[in-house]
Formats: sequence, C-alpha cells, structure tokens
Amino acid sequence: MLPDKKGHFEEFGGRYVPETLIYALDELEKEYNKAKRDKKFAQEFDYYLREYAGRPTPLYLAKNLSRYLGVNKIYLKREDLLHTGAHKINNTLGQIILAKRMKKTRVIAETGAGQHGVATATVAAMFGLSCDVYMGEEDIERQKLNVFRMKLLGSRVIPVKSGTKTLKDAMTEALRDWVTNVRHTHYIIGTVAGPHPYPEMVRDFQSVIGKEARKQILKSEKRLPDYLVACVGGGSNSMGLFYPFFNDKRVKFIGVEAAGLGLSSGKHSASLVAGSTGVLHGSKSSLLEDKFGQVLNAHSIAAGLDYPGVGPEHAYYKKIKRATYVAITDKEALEGFKLLSETEGIIPALEPAHAIAYLTKLKNKISKNSIIILCLSGRGDKDTYAVAERLKL
Ligand SMILES: *Cc1c(COP(=O)(O)O)cnc(C)c1O
Repeated sequence: MLPDKKGHFEEFGGRYVPETLIYALDELEKEYNKAKRDKKFAQEFDYYLREYAGRPTPLYLAKNLSRYLGVNKIYLKREDLLHTGAHKINNTLGQIILAKRMKKTRVIAETGAGQHGVATATVAAMFGLSCDVYMGEEDIERQKLNVFRMKLLGSRVIPVKSGTKTLKDAMTEALRDWVTNVRHTHYIIGTVAGPHPYPEMVRDFQSVIGKEARKQILKSEKRLPDYLVACVGGGSNSMGLFYPFFNDKRVKFIGVEAAGLGLSSGKHSASLVAGSTGVLHGSKSSLLEDKFGQVLNAHSIAAGLDYPGVGPEHAYYKKIKRATYVAITDKEALEGFKLLSETEGIIPALEPAHAIAYLTKLKNKISKNSIIILCLSGRGDKDTYAVAERLKL
C-alpha cells in the first residue's frame, strides 16, 4: 500500500520542507498513526460525521440527467448536502479531532475561495479552538461573503499581500506561521497536497465518500460502477471517491480539471493534463511551471479549482494509468452548471459543474449500459453571483 513510510507514491510526494518543520510533521505523523489504530478515534470521527456534518450522504440516481444524456445510470454522491455545503468538512473534522488529541489550542488554515476556511472556522468554533485563516488579499476582495462567515464563526482572517495575493501565497504564509507556532498550533491543510503525512491523511479522511458510495451502489445495483467521475482541484474529493475502489480494477477513474479559458490560452488550472513534475508546498507532484521552474498562476471560473498544483497521489495514478485526467473550460462548466440545475433541480458548485460537463463528452465513448458515479462535491449557492454575471437568464 502506498505511500511508503516516507510518504512517497513512487517519485511523487515526500517532504520538501525546511528543517524547522520536520518536528511538526513527525509529531503529526506519529499522532495520526496512533489514531488510525485507535477505535476511540474512529468512533469520535464517525460520530461527528453523522451527527454534525450529516453523513451518510445519499447516492442519488439522477434519472432525468441520465435520460437526457442517453446514459444508462448516473448516480450523484451528494456531498453538497453536508453541513457548510461541500465535502471539505469531512477533512476538517478529522484534523480538528487530531489537533485536540495533540493538545493544540490553535488551528490555522489556508483558503482560496474561502470554502476550506469556512469549514475550518466551523469545526474550530465547535471544538473551542482559536483559528486564523490565511487568505490572499485578492481573494478577500472576491469572496466577501465567506470572509464574513469566517469572522462570524469567530475566526481571524489574515490578509496575504505577497506574490499574486491568492491561494498559493496563502499556503506559503500558513506554512511560515506553523514553523514559528508549532508548539500550540496545528495546520489544517484543505486538500491531498502538502508534505507527508497530509496527502495520505486527507485522503483517508475523505475516503468516507468512496466507502459509502461503494456500499450504496452494491446495494442498489448489485454490482460495481463502470466509471467514477470527479473534479480535481487539489484532488481531495476525487481521491476520497476513487481510493476505496483502487483494487476494483474494472472501475475506471476520471478526474476532471479546469481548462479555464482553454489549455492553449495558458489561463487554466490543469496541473495534471498540462503540467510537469516539480515541487510545490512541500511535495513533489505535477504542477504548472514555466521553463525556469517558476510556478505559474492558475485560472478557473471555479475558485476551488484555481490552484497550480495537485496532490501527489494523483500524479502517481496518472503515471500508472489507474486514472485518466481530462479538462473542461469555464464555458463548458457553465453549461454543466445549467444542465444539472434544469434537469435535476440541483444547483451544483462550479467545481463539480466541470465533472457534470464532462459527462456530455463521456457519453459518446461508453457502452449503453454503463453505470457512472459522479461526486457532487458541493452546492452552488456560493457561485450564484459569479454565474449570474455570465449567464443571461
Ligand atoms: C475546494 C473544492 C473543490 C476542490 O478541491 P479538491 O481538493 O480537489 O476536492 C471541489 N469542489 C468543491 C465544492 C470545493 O469546495
């Protein structure tokens, strides 16, 4: 089973961090390994997932969408129905319980659009830990509602003025804070990226998505699905869905990245489809960089996909061809957004709208009796203003 003891998925992953962080990462790894073997941890995590976050989420057969696309059966894993409106809460709950066990009194997080920030602020409020969220100045301006939500939940939002003033810089600042305050602070990373043990740990916390889906599909269809489809930003909702099916070799994985204004425009976030191997935020993976190795700015209409890197396990899945990665443009994602809203009465977040949009291409390549599970990672309320500006209704 990967990763190996040093957090490598073959050449990907690992720990590319300053010496000063090694202590914190070792401590976290030790605590996480202990928690993995501890029934009490599993029980507590499970309790909060059920009673607080609202699990299990339905695996909903989207009959209208299936009929419209001429696909046998499309099931939606309804992470959009969770508390705070997306899958992010699965991970923040797991990590805050760990923080408590390590007797930390403060948590920090990075956030782009503010969704991971809100999910962290939420669990910090509930567990009574203080919380500081690093957010680029640019994003603070664009995501006022989420900034207000975090403040309402009792968190501080720290503006990041360096670099492009977006997610990448926020994560850099959060890592810097952690180095200085590691004794009482835990850093809650929001996706399957970062140095070991984060990619493995966040994957495990998000795997509840795939474990439930696997049980649910076996119950309703008496067989496994043919395809799993999910959007990929940092890669946590997709990895959460994929991982429990890893050994089911006939189940195909499709990760959908953001092609933004088009891959040839250079304004996109397709770090797997159009990236190369490099190091960012403490691990080796696929990322967007120029010919000098400088990390490029990402672009996507979906703030949650707007990141120039991706979790190392995805780079590994791509390499061994366990998963296929494709990219969908802003414009196509808007069509996906409309399509699900109109056929099923479900307004998706712009991130999974990329996955929905990909179905309109996938349908032409697959056999008529295929069963597809799509991870509906979040709901679209947060995006309605941005979409209203683009769609004339
Ligand atoms: C943050 C976010 C994503 C992207 O993050 P992953 O780690 O790739 O899952 C996707 N969908 C929603 C709704 C999000 O909030």
